[in-house]
Amino acid sequence: MQPLLRVNNLSKDYGALRACDRISFNLYPGQVLGIIGESGSGKSTLLASIAGHVSFDDGEVLYCNRDNNLINLRTLPEPRRRQLMKTEWGFVRQNPRDGLRMTVTAGANIGERLLDVGQRHYGNIRTEALQWLNEVEIPENRIDNFPNTFSGGMQQRLQLARILVTRPRIVLMDEPTGGLDVSVQARLLDLMRSLVRTLDLSVILVTHDIGVVRLLAHRLMVMQNGQVVEAGLTDQVLDDPQHPYTQQLVNATLVP
Ligand code: ADP
Ligand code: MG
Repeated sequence: MQPLLRVNNLSKDYGALRACDRISFNLYPGQVLGIIGESGSGKSTLLASIAGHVSFDDGEVLYCNRDNNLINLRTLPEPRRRQLMKTEWGFVRQNPRDGLRMTVTAGANIGERLLDVGQRHYGNIRTEALQWLNEVEIPENRIDNFPNTFSGGMQQRLQLARILVTRPRIVLMDEPTGGLDVSVQARLLDLMRSLVRTLDLSVILVTHDIGVVRLLAHRLMVMQNGQVVEAGLTDQVLDDPQHPYTQQLVNATLVP
C-alpha cells in the first residue's frame, strides 16, 4: 500500500534551537500515528511544519492526493496549500476557540467548510450540518446557537464536526483532549475512536498523554528534544519500551 504522507528528514530551527531534527516517517491510509513526548520536545512544531503553518528548514513532506498525484507540500503555492487544508486535510486544535469561528452559529461553523468545497444549496448544507451535529452528539436544537454557549467538550466535538464534514483524508490533532476535564476527555476519546474507525481516518495525533495514544494510535513515535528516540507499534513500544526516555515516560504513568 502507498503511504498517504511521507515525511523525510524534516528539520526546523528556531534560531539556535533545533525544534525538529531530521524526522522521518510514513503515514498509511487508515492509520493513526501517535506522537508523544514531554512539553517542549517539538511535537507541535512537527505538526505545524507538516500542515504548513510554519516553514521548515530542511527535508520534505510528500502527500499523495485524491487524484493519486504526489504533492510536495514544501513547494506548493500558498493558495493551493490552503485549499488542500480546507478539503483533503483537517487540523484539530487543542483550544476549540482556535479551530472554530466563535462569531457564527454551530450550523454555520459546519456549513462554512461545505461552502469551501463548493456546495451552494442552503437546504443541503443545513441537512448535512444537522447530520454532523448528531454524529458528534450535539442536540440538533443547538444548531443556531453560538459556540461560546457550549461547554468545552461540546466545542471540541463541534470542531470535529466542522473538520470531518468535508471528509478529509488526513487529520492532524494537537492535544485534542488537553484542555478538558478527565470525564469529558473520556467521552471525547470514545467519540474519536468510533469516528476514526467508521470514517477510516488517517490521523497524526500529538499528545503528552499515554492513555490517549494507547486508546487510539496504531503506531507510536516518541520524541525528545526534537528527535524521534523510539518508534513502533503502540502496544510494543508501551509494553516493552527500549529507550530510557520512553521507559521513564511509561513508568511515570503507571499507578503504583
Ligand atoms: P511541544 O509541542 O512538544 O511541547 P513545541 O514544538 O511547542 O513542543 O516546542 C519545541 C521547542 O521549540 C521548545 O523548546 C519551544 O520553546 C520552541 N519553540 C516553539 N515555538 C517557538 C517559536 N515560535 N519561537 C521560538 N521557539 C519556539
Ligand atoms: Mg505542543
